[in-house]
Amino acid sequence: MSRATSSDGYFSTRLREAAANDEVAAPATIDSLTDQLRSYLDEADTARVRAAHAFAESAHEGQFRRTGHRYITHPLAVASTLAEMRMDPEALMSALLHDVVEDTGTELQLIRERFGDDVATIVDGVSKLSTIFRSKAEAQAENFQKMAMAMANDIRVIVVKIADRMHNMRTIGVMSQAQRKRIARETLDLYAPIAGRLGMHAFKIEFEDLAFEALYPLRADRIRRAVRAARGNRKAVMREIKLALKNALAAEGIDARVLGRQKHLYSIYEKMKRQHKSFGQIMDVYGYRIVVDRLDTCYRTLGVIHNLYKPVSGRFKDYIAIPKANGYQSLHSSLVGMHGVPIEVQIRTEAMDTIATDGIASHWKYKSQRDTDAVMRSQRKAREWVEQVVDLKLQADSSSEFVESVKTDLFPDEVYVFTPDGDILELPRGACVVDFAYAVHTGVGNTCVAGHVDRQLVPLSQRLESGQTVNIITAPDARPNPDWLSFVVTGKARTGIRAGLKTNQRSASIALGRRLLNRALAEADTSMADLDFRRLRKVFREFGVRKRDDVLDLIGTGELMAYVVAQRLLAASNPDFEAMELNQAGPVAIRGGEGLVIKYARCCGPVPGDPIVGHMSKGKGLVVHVETCANIAEVRRRSRTEIIPTRWTPEQEGEFTTHLSIEVRQQKGVIAELASTITELDAGIEDIHIEERNAVISLVRVEVSVRDRTHLARLMRRLRVIPSVQSIRRVIA
Ligand code: MN
Repeated sequence: MSRATSSDGYFSTRLREAAANDEVAAPATIDSLTDQLRSYLDEADTARVRAAHAFAESAHEGQFRRTGHRYITHPLAVASTLAEMRMDPEALMSALLHDVVEDTGTELQLIRERFGDDVATIVDGVSKLSTIFRSKAEAQAENFQKMAMAMANDIRVIVVKIADRMHNMRTIGVMSQAQRKRIARETLDLYAPIAGRLGMHAFKIEFEDLAFEALYPLRADRIRRAVRAARGNRKAVMREIKLALKNALAAEGIDARVLGRQKHLYSIYEKMKRQHKSFGQIMDVYGYRIVVDRLDTCYRTLGVIHNLYKPVSGRFKDYIAIPKANGYQSLHSSLVGMHGVPIEVQIRTEAMDTIATDGIASHWKYKSQRDTDAVMRSQRKAREWVEQVVDLKLQADSSSEFVESVKTDLFPDEVYVFTPDGDILELPRGACVVDFAYAVHTGVGNTCVAGHVDRQLVPLSQRLESGQTVNIITAPDARPNPDWLSFVVTGKARTGIRAGLKTNQRSASIALGRRLLNRALAEADTSMADLDFRRLRKVFREFGVRKRDDVLDLIGTGELMAYVVAQRLLAASNPDFEAMELNQAGPVAIRGGEGLVIKYARCCGPVPGDPIVGHMSKGKGLVVHVETCANIAEVRRRSRTEIIPTRWTPEQEGEFTTHLSIEVRQQKGVIAELASTITELDAGIEDIHIEERNAVISLVRVEVSVRDRTHLARLMRRLRVIPSVQSIRRVIA
């Protein structure tokens, strides 16, 4: 296997040769792949990869590529590209199987059983990426790249996907014109930058050149012909400088490979377009890459070169001490050669050169020991890679910023999800449906009731994963729930919920205050509508507030007694008013679901249908008890005025909690039977408590949630017929 060593090829020679083989010669076969495998894998691993091939071959049987070749030639080509980089057996098996699930309907589970978790995970990841890339091609490219990274919890997913796309680009000629343009655009927007991010430079430039050619065939052809013409003129100068460099290094005893560098078509095009340079200006520069054995030789080499030609000030860059975020390391310098010819050199070691070409994929070339912990593996691999890169620069001041940026690039802390419109939202890891709703808009957050994730209904607390499409269901009168605070992770959601709760609390307590005040006023045959509140401002001030709504709020939260306020208002508006008889007015109507200002006493657990009374409690609002509750009798004894008659409205919302006390004969499974009966009847279990009475009998206290008295009665009837249940009663303190 030859690396890119020819003098005019530079980085992409290896891949270009492969491409030429693909187009001209026969496509990759299992025999040619096996030869590749045997060059670096043992017999057992080679056999595993061959088994994956056999599986894929029979799964794809009867399918053909548009090129006319059997379908299996495609996964074979992908695997062969990865074998060039000496990727591990799992990556190669995944490459061979990457289209099997999607294109042949084979179950992923079968792949997991036959080839293990790692391979199944990679195949699944590659399929998911394909689906997403296909459906949302026009979405924001930058976010898309990040999303791809975030989705691939195993970096091999990306590498396989890149090799997959590479083969498709090399055979793009058979596609229709429209398809070619679309695929090429996508390659330029997504795949080339991702390859660059991972330091896979050889892939990046081949993607760019192939896509450039597909998008702008005429421009590509013009530049190619110009390059060919220029090369003839440059040949002599190129060779002369190369020789001078070699000799100068040899004189210092430095053994180096000196390679002439060639710009690829797309970069020439970009330079002409972006930097407004003429073709001549770009081609005037002579580029060389010098590869040496060790790190310190790089700096010695630089010294020799700077001695030979005059360096251009300000153009020296030390990417060895401070590597690029994708791991790239080199010394760069610009010089002025004989007759004023501009020269650019890159100096690096063999190891740096491999990373500069293959990036993250170069990792497998060096490390092939086995790890068993599949989950940790990808992280460890990336970390090792980072460490390896970092090791190379130990002599320099190691900057943790670099390590951080590499890590963030490979494993972002964010999740990227789609809105129904195909926009991508970035959320912190762990974000849930409610976080998403608030990220869209505070109004959406405040009124959300449920979410669809990839068209499946999910609870609001559902954590999101990259690549999912999220759709929020809202209801106009829905409000934020205090429980949400326990699972949201974004500041925006937190702030939104708090603000929403405050407004809701206030509007609910104002509404309750209005009901209570009207009820008190009704005793004097009047109502709020009859009072001229503008003239009653001084009464508000007595209570320490300025507005009518503030007074109602205080009544609703139990800070003020409605009767007291009513008396003061009536007295202020009518001097002849005499203190009224209290508590004759009709009951306050309770419809349930008023949660924020109406509380149901835990001692007796009132449910709709029970006769109820209430009392105002400071800061809590109206607390509702069952009429016969011992605690309400106590309140009644302390002060008659605090009791407020209440009744249920005909329709109630929500669930109500109450207590049951059940005597059971101890036997295995009895608690489970109680629990399943309760659940069967669509009631909820809030809490369950078991006390031993004696050796035979236990007392079980269950807190259940039911809709109303009828529901509760039905539940008790069903529990009573369980054979081990001795007695059952509802607990009202
Ligand atoms: Mn494919």
